[in-house]
Amino acid sequence: MGEDHDIVIVGGGVAGLAIALALHKVGLKSLVLERADCLRTAGAAFNMWPNAWKALDALGVADALRPFYSQIDGIRGFSICSGVCKNVSLKRGGKGDSNVKLESRCIERMALLEALARELPEGSVRFNSKIVSLHRESLSPFTMLELADGTSLKAKIVIGCDGVYSVVARWMGLPPAKSVGRTSIRGMVTYTEGHNFEKLNVQVWGKGLRTGFVTCTDKKVYWFLTRRSQPQDAEICGNAEIVRNAALEMVKDFPDPIAEIIKSSPAETINMADLKVRWVWPWEWGRGMEKGKGSVTIVGDALHPMTPDLGQGACMALEDAVHLSRCLEQAIKSINIAEWGEVQVEKIESCFNKYLQERRWRVSSITSAAFVIGFVQEGSSRFTRFVRDWIFFPLFSMRYILYFAESC
Ligand SMILES: Cc1cc2nc3c(=O)[nH]c(=O)nc-3n(C[C@H](O)[C@H](O)[C@H](O)COP(=O)(O)OP(=O)(O)OC[C@H]3O[C@@H](n4cnc5c(N)ncnc54)[C@H](O)[C@@H]3O)c2cc1C
Repeated sequence: MGEDHDIVIVGGGVAGLAIALALHKVGLKSLVLERADCLRTAGAAFNMWPNAWKALDALGVADALRPFYSQIDGIRGFSICSGVCKNVSLKRGGKGDSNVKLESRCIERMALLEALARELPEGSVRFNSKIVSLHRESLSPFTMLELADGTSLKAKIVIGCDGVYSVVARWMGLPPAKSVGRTSIRGMVTYTEGHNFEKLNVQVWGKGLRTGFVTCTDKKVYWFLTRRSQPQDAEICGNAEIVRNAALEMVKDFPDPIAEIIKSSPAETINMADLKVRWVWPWEWGRGMEKGKGSVTIVGDALHPMTPDLGQGACMALEDAVHLSRCLEQAIKSINIAEWGEVQVEKIESCFNKYLQERRWRVSSITSAAFVIGFVQEGSSRFTRFVRDWIFFPLFSMRYILYFAESC
């Protein structure tokens, strides 16, 4: 017989650790099962926008990160096709003597994961624990989780935080995330003597290509590049030097210091990923996610894989965690979790449905906006470049990034 647990979280990424911490803060114990043998570093860093900082404040870890990461002063967008350049200040109101800035920092993935994990009781995260399947006997109120090592675990409540290829989401009946036909390359460079870049989120647009960089700290700079996927991507993605050379070739006509930043980045920070999204219209949320699945739900990329064009995936995962923990706290208070049966499962199921309903419009609008903005910004055709440089840019500047980051 396997072990019994009240709450099992599948996946120890941003979503998994954030929900575990949010539950811990309201007095609920959980076990995080992570397939890797340690916290995962791939992806180097994230832009964390004001909504993420609100969530990190609620989780009590924001102040452990703030002193180490530079607050960004603004966003700068530049098109090498038309020369159009836009600056957006992160100061409230944009002008005047206001020192109140919308908080945006680019933080290292590992630092975020460690900050979340540090606040958890010892033994909360179990590594080398890959879930391969879930099942539930028709009359049982428990969910069984099968692990790759052949062991199994019995859980009252399961929260799937296992990312884009989520086993839990598949079990709940969600369709797989689909490639959007675009690929991203990212990396990080450390200047041991410090750098002189402004504290900006710089984005540069070309033909079918968007690249940019953000200062993380006084020494570290994160960079990214997105472009249409190419047939050889699957072959080269495991070789950082080939990926770097491909990136350098793509930015050869781009202004300084993009190529230099890419050249100086250690190979272990370079990562290539096919961008994926799952379309679930807001009115379809819950359908197929709730049928007979009882006390099982999903959070973060498992629920809403999105393109990174608004830098909101991890920010949304943090928001999800705060929302879900509030719902779950209320639901668990109203039952006796020690006496687990169908009545308790129904209570938790309706709490999970409430959480999904609360999140659906926000997450759907951000997922769709990120997709459309990514498509336009990349400017693959002459028409989209025209729209981007002469309509989209002048009309919206780059304020749409802040609109979604603020409205929560
Ligand atoms: C190019 C790019 C740039 C991005 N930039 C930003 C940004 O600037 N800002 C931002 O907010 N977001 C950004 N994102 C999105 C962000 O990376 C994701 O939204 C975020 O990592 C989602 O967190 P998660 O915990 O849901 O999933 P993940 O980070 O994928 O974590 C899932 C975890 O589950 C584990 N796991 C998977 N399967 C199993 C299993 N079967 N059993 C046990 N464990 C399992 C994995 O090992 C992993 O640790 C970007 C994404 C990309 C691709």
